[in-house]
Amino acid sequence: MTDSLRTEHPSSWRWVRSWGLWSLSTGARRYVIIFELLAAIAVVVACLTDLPPTRADWRWFGVLVGAGALHLWLSRRTEETRRDSGTGPHMDTSVVWILPAMVLLPAWMAVLSMLLLRVQLYPVARRPLYRYTFGTAGILLAALGSLAVVRLAGVDMTSAFGAREALVLALAGLTYFVINAIAIGGVIALSAPQPTWTVVAGSRRDNAMAALTVCLGALAALAIAHAWLAPLFVVPLLCALDWGALQIENLRGDARTDHKTQLLNSRGWHEQAARELARSARLRTTLSVAVLDLDHFKLVNDTWGHPAGDAVLRAVGRVLRETTRQGDVVGRFGGEEFILLLPDTDLDGAIQVAERIRRGVAAMQVAATDKRGQPVVISDRTTSIGVAAAAGTADLDTLMRHADAAVYEAKHGGRNQVRAADQSADAAL
Ligand code: GH3
Ligand code: MG
Ligand code: MG
Repeated sequence: MTDSLRTEHPSSWRWVRSWGLWSLSTGARRYVIIFELLAAIAVVVACLTDLPPTRADWRWFGVLVGAGALHLWLSRRTEETRRDSGTGPHMDTSVVWILPAMVLLPAWMAVLSMLLLRVQLYPVARRPLYRYTFGTAGILLAALGSLAVVRLAGVDMTSAFGAREALVLALAGLTYFVINAIAIGGVIALSAPQPTWTVVAGSRRDNAMAALTVCLGALAALAIAHAWLAPLFVVPLLCALDWGALQIENLRGDARTDHKTQLLNSRGWHEQAARELARSARLRTTLSVAVLDLDHFKLVNDTWGHPAGDAVLRAVGRVLRETTRQGDVVGRFGGEEFILLLPDTDLDGAIQVAERIRRGVAAMQVAATDKRGQPVVISDRTTSIGVAAAAGTADLDTLMRHADAAVYEAKHGGRNQVRAADQSADAAL
């Protein structure tokens, strides 16, 4: 069958074969397909059973799609930053407009407004198409779940808003939250090698953000139901919140960055290294740590002054970035000491990386100014590097201590060299 398809439709078959969907495990793939089918069925059922639109519906439709589009466009940078730094399940802010659509509009109109907003997020999402369509299916099911709650309860949010309406609105929001969590958590549970509860359910921070977004959606629904111009206030409020979130994200980054070299500082390195260590223990892979101390760095300061020393430190930062892989955790521990955690790397691999760094530092030609402000090129810098490796369960402090001891061996051995730690005495590693 494969061959006949290949001969009949060579290019389309190749296109289908190239879908990222096939890279998922069988269980996860089935889950994704079933979820998408369910979403499609839910859309058909909802659209067939709902009422024709009124003039007020058209007005709400226009307001929600227009205000939603404006808000998503204004907050696209925040959304990108959050996506890039996010670790767990992610609920995008479009729910703030989707929930009012589900509460106020006939089903087909609500689905259409949701799809119009969703399409705009595609360039920001930067995800493979199958993940984007699965995300859309998850949102559709969650949204139609909340629509079903409102319809089954038979409340009209536009006429009055009492305890019953408040309860139904809260239930609609909760339904959205739960279905969204099941959609994303399910696929993570089926595709992660060894899923933990935090990985599947998301961090407390992610869930708090998602709950806040749903609450804002409920509030927007309530406001727009009673005043169709409410988005005039809702959009600026959301933009201010997005801006605040971006500031917090930037501050979080700042608190973990060494500003001289743009590498991680001690705090950032420890946090990321601990995460890598936990992953390595889960997957039972080997990882290594390399500690690097520049040789006779004090001499650079003494000879050409501190600004020249800083230029050398920045150049070492560049060498480290250029000689390491994307997943490596690279930090500066203050002074002229740097540290690297190399995931999926055994001792031999780590020695090779350290040698590359040592040669990179030796080849540096650093343009700086001396104590009198005259231009100077600093070269022939050397470095002593100690490496240690750990398979399976390892303790970060012990690993760092071993790598540090190896640095001192390298110093005593004459500097400008890489030394592997003697870990034979430590049975834990
Ligand atoms: P060794 O080969 O034994 O490592 O000698 P060393 O001179 O590199 O080591 P030592 O610990 O004696 O000196 C480290 C120097 O690094 C002293 C300190 O002034 C300098 N230093 C620490 N942080 C900075 C910095 O941010 N900028 C500059 N320019 N110098 C720094
Ligand atoms: Mg030192
Ligand atoms: Mg030194």
